[in-house]
Amino acid sequence: MQLHYIGNTGVRASGGRTLPVIDPSDGQPYDEIQRGTAEDVDAAVRAARQCLDTVWGRLSAAERGRLLHKLSAKVAEHAEELAAIEQRDCGKPTRQAKADALALVRYFEFYAGACDKLHGETLPYQDGYAVLTWREPHGVTGHVIPWNYPMQIFGRSVGGALAAGNACVVKPSEDACLSLLRVAELAAEVGFPAGAINIVTGYGHEVGDALARHPGIDHISFTGSPRVGTLIQQVAAERHCPVTLELGGKSPQVVFADADLDAALPVIVNAIVQNGGQTCSAGSRLLVERSLYEPLLDRLGGLFANLRVGPAAMDLDVGPLIRASQQQRVWDFLSDAQHAGIPMVAQGQIVDEAPETGYYQAPTLLRDVPPAHRLAQEEVFGPVLAAMAFADEDEAVALANGTQFGLVAGVWTRDGGRQLRMARRIRSGQVFVNNYGAGGGVELPFGGVKSSGHGREKGFEALYAFTTLKTVAIRHG
Ligand code: NAD
Repeated sequence: MQLHYIGNTGVRASGGRTLPVIDPSDGQPYDEIQRGTAEDVDAAVRAARQCLDTVWGRLSAAERGRLLHKLSAKVAEHAEELAAIEQRDCGKPTRQAKADALALVRYFEFYAGACDKLHGETLPYQDGYAVLTWREPHGVTGHVIPWNYPMQIFGRSVGGALAAGNACVVKPSEDACLSLLRVAELAAEVGFPAGAINIVTGYGHEVGDALARHPGIDHISFTGSPRVGTLIQQVAAERHCPVTLELGGKSPQVVFADADLDAALPVIVNAIVQNGGQTCSAGSRLLVERSLYEPLLDRLGGLFANLRVGPAAMDLDVGPLIRASQQQRVWDFLSDAQHAGIPMVAQGQIVDEAPETGYYQAPTLLRDVPPAHRLAQEEVFGPVLAAMAFADEDEAVALANGTQFGLVAGVWTRDGGRQLRMARRIRSGQVFVNNYGAGGGVELPFGGVKSSGHGREKGFEALYAFTTLKTVAIRHG
C-alpha cells in the first residue's frame, strides 16, 4: 500500500481510507493509494512552511542547485525502475515511459543549473537613491498534476518551483501517482530536507480543492482540464493567490501543398497517437491545402491502418487509455461522428493479446470534419485525428484559430515567408514549423493562450512565475 509523503515520511490518510490503483492494460487493481483529506493537506502545508522557515529558505541558490543535481543523477540511476512504475500505472508503452523518466532527469538537471542564474536588477533612479529588484520565492507552492505525464509535469512544475526556492505540496492525479511518490523518496535520500517536497494523494474534489483553498499556499500551478482550471482559479481568486494554468488544446497541424510529406507524415501520426492521444499538445486537427488533401489522406490512411494497440509492456505504437471513463469518452465522440456522417479513412488494430478488460482504442483518422462539429472543437484526449481541407492561407489561419484553445500549432511548408506569416497569425503559445514539439526540450517555455491557460512553465521563463519581484529603494543621501 502507498502512503502520502509528508515531511520525508510515509503517512496514512487521516480519514483511514484508500483508493485502488488500476492497471489500464487489464483493468485490474494491483495496489492502493491514500485517499487524502483536507487535514492531510494542512499537515503537508505546515511541513512545507516549517521547512521553508528553518532549512530550505536558508540555503543558498547554489546549495539548492547542488541538491537538484544530485536528484537528477539519482533519478537517472533509477530511470528503469521509475519507467516501470509509470508504465503500469498509466499504461505507457515502454519507450514512452523511459522517455518520461529521462525527461524528469533533464528537468532537474536544467533547473539545478538555473538556481543561481536567477538575478535581479539595479535600476537607474533619482540622485540619492539606490534601487534594486530581488526575485523571491512565493513561499509554499501547490502543484496539481494530471495523469497523462506525471513525471514530466512534476519535473517542469516542481523542478522550477524548487529552483526558485519554494517548498512544494503536490497533489498528483488519483489515476497516476506512484512514480511521484517514489521520486519524493529519492529526493529525501539525496538530502532534500523534510518538508521541501510533500505529496498528498487522493481525489481532486477533496485533496485538490483543499490545496487550492488552503491559506498557506502562496501560488498554485495547475495542469489539467479547462473545467477544473476554472474552478481552481475561482477558488484562488478568493484570496488573490496567483495561479499558472496549463490546460488543454485542440492543436492544428497545418499542411500546405509544398510540404515535405516524407518528413511530415510520421510526425503527424506520432503527434496524435503518442500516449494514446492523451497529450495536451496532441496534434488533433489536420488542416490540409485542398490540392494535397486526397493524396495526403491516402498515404496517412495507410500509416493509420498499420498502427498496433496493445498492453503497455508489449511496447506497441499505442497502449491503453487511462481508465474506462476515458475510453467511454472517446467512444462517445466516435459515435457522434458516425451519426453526423463523418467519414472514417482508416483505423489501427487492437492486437489479440490485449485483455478485454483493458481500456483500448484503435487510432482513428476521420475526414471532412465540419469545423463547427465537436470533433473539430473539443478535446477528445484519445487517438482520433480530424482532417479537413482549406483553400488558402487565410482560411488556414481562420480554421487554426477557430477553437477556444490556443496551445500548440504545427505548420508544414517550404515557403519561408509563409512560415513566418503563419507563425505570427496563429494564436497559440507555441508554433512549430516543419516539426512538432521540437523534441520536447525542457529549455523551451511552454503554455497556452485562451482556454489553454496562462502563465508559462519549462525553460527559464518558469522561474519568473515561481517568484515574486521585490523592489528595494534605499535613500542614501
Ligand atoms: P483534470 O482536470 O480532471 O485533473 C487534473 C488534476 O486536477 C488531477 O490531479 C485531479 O485530481 C485534479 N482535480 C480534479 N478536480 C479538482 C478540483 N475540483 N479541485 C482541484 N483539483 C482537482 O484533468 P485530467 O483528466 O487529469 O487531465 C487531462 C487534462 O489535462 C486535459 O484537458 C489535458 O489537455 C490537460 N493537460 C494539459 C497540459 C498542459 O500543459 N497544457 C498537460 C497535460 C494535461
